[in-house]
Amino acid sequence: MRKKFPEHKRSEVEILSSLEAFKKDDLQWKKGRAFSYVYYAEDAITETLKKAYVSYFSENALNPSAFPSLLRMENEVVSMCLDLFDAHENATGNMTSGGTESILMALKSAKEYAKIHKPHIKEPEVLLPISAHPAFDKGCDYFGLNPKKIELTDDFRVHVKEIERAITNNTILIVASAPSYPQGVIDPIPAIGNIAKAQNILFHVDACVGGFVLPFMETRTPWNMAVEGVTSMSADIHKYGFASKGSSVILYNDPELRKAQYYVYTDWPGGMYGSPAILGTKPGGAIAVAWSILHLLGSEGYREKVKTSLDVARQFRDRISAYKDLQVWGNPDMCIFSFGSERFNIYELGDEMHLKGWLMDRQQNPSALHLSISPFHTHIINDFFEDFEVAYKKAKRPTVQSTLNKIQVSANKGLKKILPKKTYKKVQDMALSKTDPASKRSAALYGMIGDLKGDGETEELIKNYLDKLFSS
Ligand SMILES: *Cc1c(COP(=O)(O)O)cnc(C)c1O
Repeated sequence: MRKKFPEHKRSEVEILSSLEAFKKDDLQWKKGRAFSYVYYAEDAITETLKKAYVSYFSENALNPSAFPSLLRMENEVVSMCLDLFDAHENATGNMTSGGTESILMALKSAKEYAKIHKPHIKEPEVLLPISAHPAFDKGCDYFGLNPKKIELTDDFRVHVKEIERAITNNTILIVASAPSYPQGVIDPIPAIGNIAKAQNILFHVDACVGGFVLPFMETRTPWNMAVEGVTSMSADIHKYGFASKGSSVILYNDPELRKAQYYVYTDWPGGMYGSPAILGTKPGGAIAVAWSILHLLGSEGYREKVKTSLDVARQFRDRISAYKDLQVWGNPDMCIFSFGSERFNIYELGDEMHLKGWLMDRQQNPSALHLSISPFHTHIINDFFEDFEVAYKKAKRPTVQSTLNKIQVSANKGLKKILPKKTYKKVQDMALSKTDPASKRSAALYGMIGDLKGDGETEELIKNYLDKLFSS
């Protein structure tokens, strides 16, 4: 049913109380029950950042000459990040609205740069570890680039030899992560950098999730912009930088690459138009907050936060590994990791925990639950494991629900064999359309999607699901 556009004004009290009321079914992240989506430092810091945001609530970074203060802060944020990541002397960059925009820009600049320096390339290819963030696939799709997937080794790091083998005359960019989101491991950046340099190919390191953690701890391998061969890097200030949402940087060792990122249109009656990245109107608040948090914490503050996150993550991993049927995948390099089981359906455990209000992301290949640990999770370890103990026992015991899930999954497999393709798809759509977006039981859904993987039907199903979610 379509909502009527409001005819009458409402009071502040009404509006604000509605907003609060809307939140009642949301994730209780303030109680430490979310393990992604919200990266939280502490209340006092957030209160300060809220004031910083509000002080630039209306300002627009679209036109730098109108708001030199925003330009100054953006330049300082980029400069401080270049320093943090040991970038080359002439390195440059921009602030963006998030990791996705930073990644899209890395792809766009690589594409334009190739047009100039490798004009023979008609079908540009990008080498992507299968663990690389889907924003790269999205960008390849948007910009007409061919993604070529590179397998991982047993430790979930990208297979360097496979990268070498996959390079062709059409390769314009190699991508690696520091660390990858799914298992939290850093790809072998120096080895890939050597290859990239020797073959004269651009090399982007995605430090979206690691950018404000790795500089403040010991790492097994070098990973930053000083590594030979690295040409660009993305890092999200709105993740472990603890800024408000809408804040990331894209950085280039070679200033020519940043130029290749810009968009300019000169014929518009409204005036000449030049913009560095995707956004037109650009929220001043996000820039003010980014500048503020870097100064509010400084290296000193980030080191403390990172120490806490690493310590809490270690406790989580140890306590999870103590369960004989559970295992942490790989050897995570910082405070994000995932775990699964070879003995039972880990999504059942995810569902049981979700019913108790703890949300862990579900992952596939291998099946896993994912945790991003923030400093404030230090307060909830014991509560978490109290519920975990119960959930674990329940998840392992066959229940009506898990049996139903299994039936749904295996019926799905059976149906696929016997039904004509079109009919089968209809059945799938029906099953998904019955899936309540707010439902905390997703084991069957995930089992089903896992089963569909690889034949293009999943994509269609997920599009229909999105249509259903965004109901207007
Ligand atoms: C979060 C993340 C991204 C995408 O960032 P958004 O801010 O969600 O757009 C890209 N790469 C990695 C490794 C990430 O963790």
